[in-house]
Amino acid sequence: MKEPNTILTDTFGREHTYLRISLTERCNLRCTYCMPAIGIPLSPKSHIMTYEEIFAIAKEFVDNGVTKIRLTGGEPLVRKDVGLMMEQLATLPVELAITTNGVMVDKFIEQFKRIGLRKLNVSLDSLNNDKNTAITRRDYFTKVYNNIQLLVKEGFEVKINCVLMKGFNDNEIIDFIELTKTQPLQIRFIEFMPFDGNKWNFDKLVSLEEVLKEVYSHYDVKQFIRLKDAPNDTAKNYRIKDYQGSFAVISSVTNPFCDSCNRIRLTANGQLKDCLFSSTESDLLTPFREGKSIAPVIQKAVLAKKKVRNGMDTLEKFKDPDSHDNRSMIAIGG
Ligand code: SAM
Ligand code: SF4
Repeated sequence: MKEPNTILTDTFGREHTYLRISLTERCNLRCTYCMPAIGIPLSPKSHIMTYEEIFAIAKEFVDNGVTKIRLTGGEPLVRKDVGLMMEQLATLPVELAITTNGVMVDKFIEQFKRIGLRKLNVSLDSLNNDKNTAITRRDYFTKVYNNIQLLVKEGFEVKINCVLMKGFNDNEIIDFIELTKTQPLQIRFIEFMPFDGNKWNFDKLVSLEEVLKEVYSHYDVKQFIRLKDAPNDTAKNYRIKDYQGSFAVISSVTNPFCDSCNRIRLTANGQLKDCLFSSTESDLLTPFREGKSIAPVIQKAVLAKKKVRNGMDTLEKFKDPDSHDNRSMIAIGG
């Protein structure tokens, strides 16, 4: 059993057992809510962690209590050595998961099966081809949709991440939920969050409350079931009676879930972020490359973690543009 007080325990007693590793700042899509149209300045290649460095740093976290690792990005599957990396990380005693835009998933199905990676979060913001092209600035809807069907057919546990935007895809909430009637999918509606260059505006966001209102207006109250959320779950989970799948809302803006946060993030260029919204980062890669122990740096970062959203504990503070001094989401690893 893990000791309760590790270098991953913060001052509020939260244990950070879930590491999200961004493998790359690159992506084959250009989602408007994630990155500016002109792209982002990429880190020089020499600043990006090699797969040996990722493995060694990940192992340090696992040795200190991490039990779950999620690969993200950018788009993790565009990284050339991602296959090798997944193979290695799967040897660690952790649950390995991935968040992907789904475009390249078919090429990795056999590997996922072989290494025991069973859980995938796939991003899909609209069930309409043209709307997808508009939001991703690329034309891959059919490919992604077919890959989701393939994953389900092959028995993977698939969650669909859908960022809701007012006047854009909020009229598709019921269509997405109806997918769960016959398929064991989980649809996760995500409140639009502010990051550098994504033109965030509270008025564009579709809140948890608004999603539930839409659901209540469509389904009979007796059909609508509130599920028990898993410990450390960021989502509030629901099911429509007799449907195979479920749906959830990730309400980081209107109802943050920081009390039970167990997440910590490593960016592709080796910076540790103790919160998705943190404006400060801790450089792990430089001391690692100098052969120094990174444990003290990790501990300092964890101890500095604020109670709620990097100190933005009210909606007013969160709405204040001056509060947001962060990277673009593509460079953080959502
Ligand atoms: N490329 C992969 C993908 O799209 O799934 C992984 C990286 S992406 C940054 C991870 C998740 O962050 C995606 O589900 C995406 O929808 C979500 N995301 C990106 N920008 C966001 C924002 N501004 N608000 C809410 N979610 C966002
Ligand atoms: Fe790429 Fe994912 Fe960002 Fe879309 S959300 S641009 S797929 S990293």
